[in-house]
Amino acid sequence: MRELYLKAPAKINLALHVKGLREDGFHELQLIMQSISLADRIKLKKKSGGIIIKTSHTELPTGKENLAYQAAEIFFEQNPELEQGVEIYIEKNIPIAAGMAGGSTDAAAVMRGLYQLFELKADFKKLRSDLEAIGSDVPYCLAGGTVYAAGRGEILESLPFIGEKYLVVVTPAFKISTPAVYKLYDEIQGYRKFNFDLVLDNLQNDEKIDWSLDYKNDLKNASEKICPEIREIKDIFKNTEAEFTMISGSGPTVFSIYDSREKAEKVAAGWPRKNDFVAAGKTIDSY
Ligand code: ATP
Repeated sequence: MRELYLKAPAKINLALHVKGLREDGFHELQLIMQSISLADRIKLKKKSGGIIIKTSHTELPTGKENLAYQAAEIFFEQNPELEQGVEIYIEKNIPIAAGMAGGSTDAAAVMRGLYQLFELKADFKKLRSDLEAIGSDVPYCLAGGTVYAAGRGEILESLPFIGEKYLVVVTPAFKISTPAVYKLYDEIQGYRKFNFDLVLDNLQNDEKIDWSLDYKNDLKNASEKICPEIREIKDIFKNTEAEFTMISGSGPTVFSIYDSREKAEKVAAGWPRKNDFVAAGKTIDSY
């Protein structure tokens, strides 16, 4: 195989609970991760002469700072017998620094794709642990789906797929630094008790999601303080028959869930804030 095209889906969080601060400075989390149809598109092409990144997005780094580059580097380190080189083209459709794991999903897709491109068998467990070094969302992004994550986000437990739910994601033109949100969170918010067991029980045993349970995001206040536009976006969603509205990750992306594709598409098409990134889509199962 000389070249390969693949999708790198974004994620949203259906719940995000900060359990506490660990001794290593990271936060101990409990998360529900969910893949969505919004995706970057990636093309991999065998090419001698090292790792080359090209991208449709002018703000994206093309060197070692790109998480996709780091994944390719790990791949070639682990497979030194291969001709060391690949050209990676990233069509960036997921907003950057938006809370939808855009960089992590590119890295995971490149790792998945390189094993296919070079027709090698991958040890999935090992890949997951290798990818942790790049970022705590990267192991999840290897296969996506509906997943319970703990630790820094790297301890993963698959849940039954929540089924196809239609949604709209909106990202204001405002990049949020994840560390800045956690820093403010530590300053302004005491840890609250979260009834995660009920959420997990609901996702594992019931046909329908009970959104009145703790489907909440502990980073909400900090994120809204840093980016006040989040409130304006939520206010618009309030008048749209959404079943559920929440910030994804550390924000500033806000998503709403609808009971039909038509409703979601109508909301996206009529979105009044012209500088926002807006996309209608749906939840997807693991890939
Ligand atoms: P998460 O939800 O995992 O916290 P995010 O969606 O908030 O992630 P990203 O889009 O992954 O954030 O971007 C965070 C940083 O990573 C940005 O500063 C960006 O420049 C850098 N980055 C490196 N590689 C990539 C990539 N392939 N795509 C997007 N951002 C990347």
